[in-house]
Amino acid sequence: MKNSIKKIAFALSCSWVMVSCNTETNTKATTTDADTTKYVMVIHGGAGTIEKSLMTPEKEKAYTAALTEALQAGYDLIKAGKTSVEAVQAAVNVMENSPLFNAGKGAVFTNAGKNELDASIMDGATLKAGAVAGVTNIKNPINAAIAVMEKSEHVMMVGKGAEQFAAGNGCDTVPQSYFFTQERWDQLQRTIQQEENGRAAFNEADVKKSKISGISDLDKKFGTVGAVALDAKGNLAAGTSTGGMTNKKYGRVGDSPIIGAGTYCNNATAGISCTGWGEYYIREVAANRMSSLIELKNLSIKEAAKQVIEEIGKLGGDGGIIGLNKEGQIAMEFNTSGMYRGTVDKNGKISIQIYK
Ligand code: ASP
Repeated sequence: MKNSIKKIAFALSCSWVMVSCNTETNTKATTTDADTTKYVMVIHGGAGTIEKSLMTPEKEKAYTAALTEALQAGYDLIKAGKTSVEAVQAAVNVMENSPLFNAGKGAVFTNAGKNELDASIMDGATLKAGAVAGVTNIKNPINAAIAVMEKSEHVMMVGKGAEQFAAGNGCDTVPQSYFFTQERWDQLQRTIQQEENGRAAFNEADVKKSKISGISDLDKKFGTVGAVALDAKGNLAAGTSTGGMTNKKYGRVGDSPIIGAGTYCNNATAGISCTGWGEYYIREVAANRMSSLIELKNLSIKEAAKQVIEEIGKLGGDGGIIGLNKEGQIAMEFNTSGMYRGTVDKNGKISIQIYK
């Protein structure tokens, strides 16, 4: 009896995913300028060498379910008249609480075998922003970034100070062991081994045997999560959260917590969140660059995102960028083989995509 109920529930959930989610595997990933759908939220769960050959059907299903849950959480709040900041927080929290993404629970390990997390948020109506970097005991770093934005006179806090402020302002704290996942630990060991062997790049066989979460170890920099939301009042917010880069050393901080690089949001242009090789995104000032291209060059959101990704590629970097504007138009561009991503439109229709 129990089993047959389980089977029915499973069949129902599968058919729901098939109806409401569009997991296209070989069509062009991005929307066209002609797309007239009005979106209210766009999210990403990292870009990288995400290939069907590195993926199992179970993993694909798990990612689709997690991205769907994140979009649904954000959409429910937008529908209930909550702010875009609250919707971004809800979506990012779902991904931070999942071991699948390199943010919160699934954060990668530093060279010292620790987890140091970064996050940022920006409010497009007020241009207020908050960020934390290098925090080690905050369960949901995006919540700490929001606390910095809303409850302090600062924009960015790092390390122990950020932890103290977050804990004192209602953010849940966890021991470092909370962030332990075997997959990420093994990924660190393989990365250290590869670096010790002095090999600059992985060969095909290494990629196959070292696959993790559908992303090969080649991509030790990828897996960040981000969300952009448009609320009923027409206000945008954007947020990004990450564990950074496997084997990072010396207090390395990437683009994700840097306003203008990994996250930017302005009602006049767009809300933007990035994922990819952070050093290049910092040098490109990627998120603000995309906003400036819209504002000063009159590019469409999609053209602006495309140009930024092209420029990152020319510098030698790779990754992706997502954006949403007040008209409900989106951009989801990347120069890697895949990017976990999804959208929800104003009617609640969810669409998930993974590959190019
Ligand atoms: N951009 C992040 C960083 O460099 C990594 C990522 O997007 O996965 O820290």
